[in-house]
Amino acid sequence: MAGKKGFILCVCQGTCPSFKNMDTMEVLNALRREKVVDFVALHPQLCADDGDRYLKILLDNKDIDKLYIAACDPLMQQKMFRDAFEAVGFGKAKHVPLDIRNKTTAEAIAAIKKTISENP
Ligand code: SF4
Repeated sequence: MAGKKGFILCVCQGTCPSFKNMDTMEVLNALRREKVVDFVALHPQLCADDGDRYLKILLDNKDIDKLYIAACDPLMQQKMFRDAFEAVGFGKAKHVPLDIRNKTTAEAIAAIKKTISENP
């Protein structure tokens, strides 16, 4: 049976100006409505210690084949989340990072859907 595809939105605690033009709940709702992935989630600060713990708990169930993370710079994401992925044996190729800073709601939704369709 194929594993699950999940999506996490991370927006620097909701205070970063880079995300001020985006309605985070509407981004998540658009993905839910269209069933683009199996689950969606919002985390305030994935790169903090509790973000690490969150990723380990989430990915330890071994049933997730792909995790799309819409947040900041993709290279930074790969570095920041590497330890959590390695701790639970989550292959880095299963992480699809996406930069959604400085986008409107519509732009963010379009970019996320495009990335997911290009990385099934
Ligand atoms: S992972 Fe990126 S978007 Fe999320 S809180 Fe850290 S710096 Fe901000």
